[in-house]
Amino acid sequence: MHKAVKSQVDWTALREDFPILRERVNGHPLIYFDSAASSQKPASVLDVVRNYYEHENANVHRGLHALSARATEHYEKSRQRVADFIGAKSADEIIFTRGTTESINLVAQTWGPKFLRAGDVILLTEMEHHSNLVPWQLLSERIGAQLRFVPVRDDGTLALEKFSSLLTPEVKLFAFTHVSNSLGTINPVAELCAKAKNIGAATLVDAAQSIGHMPVNVQEIGCDFLAFSGHKMCAPTGIGALYGRFDVLDAMPPYQGGGEMIVSVTLEKSTFKKPPQRFEAGTPSIAGAIGLGAAVDYLEGIGRGEIFKHDVDLTQYALERMKEVPGLRVLGTAKEHAGAISFVMDAAHPHDLTTFADRYGLAMRGGHHCNQPLMRRFGVTGSTRASFYLYNTREEIDRMVEILQKAANFFK
Ligand code: PMP
Repeated sequence: MHKAVKSQVDWTALREDFPILRERVNGHPLIYFDSAASSQKPASVLDVVRNYYEHENANVHRGLHALSARATEHYEKSRQRVADFIGAKSADEIIFTRGTTESINLVAQTWGPKFLRAGDVILLTEMEHHSNLVPWQLLSERIGAQLRFVPVRDDGTLALEKFSSLLTPEVKLFAFTHVSNSLGTINPVAELCAKAKNIGAATLVDAAQSIGHMPVNVQEIGCDFLAFSGHKMCAPTGIGALYGRFDVLDAMPPYQGGGEMIVSVTLEKSTFKKPPQRFEAGTPSIAGAIGLGAAVDYLEGIGRGEIFKHDVDLTQYALERMKEVPGLRVLGTAKEHAGAISFVMDAAHPHDLTTFADRYGLAMRGGHHCNQPLMRRFGVTGSTRASFYLYNTREEIDRMVEILQKAANFFK
């Protein structure tokens, strides 16, 4: 049996930081195994958001009064915290967005039309979340570019032996995920970015599943863009970020037009600010950005290295224990495996299995996980996914296995 790792962190005590974990669901203590969809929030993040509305609430960057100055200072401090969190050279390389989806769409709608031409190739992988696929489909239809895909092997890893033949000079962008949201596979991001860079392609890393779970450093990764969502890393919904190397961002046209992104406006024409303001038209999610800063502080207080070890410990333990459940098949058996496990049970549709588990207070996700092509690749229409985070425990996994055993009996 997989041995528990020794850690300085008291993972059980840490659960007290998350008020929602005291909830009961259908008469049972909540077991929240759906953090890959959205994580829970610690009290420190909730407090900071409340404090903002109670003591600082005003619009940023425009008011000449005290509250606006406080809000602006706090908002910009969060940008600096996020920059430090991912090893960006400057806070000017951080654009606040609604999340990963908007970050990727921003690149597809601004960088894409300016730097890609008909016949150019955008290289993706077969394991991309729809939000790192559909924006590129829309762009390629618009400009006549082509999409190409790195295949996924049966074990859920990328078929890297095919990588060199796919990475031809026509490839102008390689956009791919750090961690697969369905399979939990961790991709060798730095190695892949270096190879793409060698042929002069730009790189975009979808860090939605890695950002709050393991150390992520854009210098070490060597990417041009990195996209992530706050809500998967203990921050509120409606906030996320796009990192872009400053020289790359500076060469990009605006995304949305409106207030705050201009230098001067006449009825006919406008001029635009430098990044990041050029890409932040309108009133942003101020409370969200401030909450994101607090989430960064919270995760830094624990250490993403520790969180990663904890995730891996739970995952290895769960993978072993799940072998005891009859008729259960795990999709993706990569050695480099983060805290998400997708599985199918021969006798039960993923929706039925997930609904069955909910009766016992166990929250998982059932369906295609915004990964329809990947599900098709594995010959299924969907799966059930259990995903873990810093507040989960081995005892909860024991309980999950009990519930899955009940399900195996129920559906047979
Ligand atoms: N990419 C990956 C790998 C994801 O897991 C998700 C969220 N499931 C997204 C992109 C989209 O994130 P959001 O919905 O927060 O924009």
